[in-house]
Parts: sequence; structure tokens; C-alpha cells
Amino acid sequence: MINLILFGPPGSGKGTQAKKLVEQYELLHISTGDLFRYEMGNNTPLGLKAKEYISKGELVPDEITVGMLANKVIANQNVKGYIFDGYPRNIFQSEELDRILAEMGMEVTGLVALAVEDEEIVQRILGRGKTSGRTDDNDESIIRNRIEVYKQETRPVFDYYAKSNKSFEIGGLGSIDDVFDRLCKQINTF
Ligand code: AMP
Repeated sequence: MINLILFGPPGSGKGTQAKKLVEQYELLHISTGDLFRYEMGNNTPLGLKAKEYISKGELVPDEITVGMLANKVIANQNVKGYIFDGYPRNIFQSEELDRILAEMGMEVTGLVALAVEDEEIVQRILGRGKTSGRTDDNDESIIRNRIEVYKQETRPVFDYYAKSNKSFEIGGLGSIDDVFDRLCKQINTF
């Protein structure tokens, strides 16, 4: 069982790498961003609420996010493990993840952060915005706000798991396959 937190700033390639990891390790990919986009696409009450925050590049409140994540994990227990992509994004969400997994007799195996510097991120996300249809990918000030929120609220999650020697960082630059090789090398040490 591998329960991996795929970590890093927005636009660092988490989603792309998660899709490749799913094939390699037969894990379930849980992206809270994708779950929110699904809800928004269906105009559900949860989706409409989430949109208020996502459109500004802010975090969706924990009381919405944690329950949605927990439902997804609990509904999919017959898997070899999980890839958490875009969750946890603050310390409270980390504590809740630990609690949810502990209740099922599991724990986080490791966190791997993809390191990519700010200007590269802005350019990558603006590029993605041309085809992703994501309104939060098209406006530079919203993108910069997402990076700021990452630094203030999300980056501490790295230090939180570092306390139990579970946090690792790899270079996020280079080809998709290069980054994937680095990721696999790290995961294979778990
Ligand atoms: P992502 O696809 O991971 O970049 O997420 C897109 C947006 O969804 C983020 O900018 C947040 O507004 C929201 N979001 C995704 N995951 C979370 C989370 N764990 N906590 C709060 N907001 C989230």
C-alpha cells in the first residue's frame, strides 16, 4: 500500500505526473481540484460554493473540502493506495487526512514535492489556460494569488510531514519523462 501526497505549487505538473503514476503503481488518483471542477460543471450546490473561491485563486473552505475528500477515500477502499493531488493544502487538512487514514488502519507513506520556481509556474499556467478552459488559469493576478496562497498556507504541509521524515523534494523541470523517472526513484524507496 502506498499513500502518496503529490505536492508542489500550482502548475508544477502534479496532475500530469499523477496520471502516469496511476498506470505504474495502480493507485487511485484523487485530485480535489478535479472533484471541484466536476461539481462546478454540474452546477451542484457544492460546485457553486467552491466556484466563489476558485475563481479568485483562494482555497475553498475546509468544511467543504475535507468532507468531499473523506467521501472519496471511504467510497474507494479496495485499491492499492492513493495519490493525493492538490490535497492537503494546509495544516488542518493534513491532520484530517491523517485521521481519516488512521480510522481505516492506514497512514501517509510519503510526500513528494515537485520544485518549480515562480516565473516558470506563471508561464506554464498561462500556457495551460489557452486550452484548459479553466478561468483560474487565464488571469495572471489570479495565478499569482494562487502562488502566494501556496507559500503562506500550503508549503507548511511539507514541514508538517518532514517531522516524521516523510517529506521529499525533487526537481520539477525537464521533460515529463525525466520528472517521472525522478518521482519513481523516490517512490521506490518507500
Ligand atoms: P488545483 O486543480 O489543484 O490547482 O485546484 C484548483 C483550485 O481548487 C484551487 O486554486 C483551490 O481554489 C481549489 N482547491 C483544490 N484543492 C483544494 C484544497 N485541498 N483545499 C482548498 N481548495 C482547494
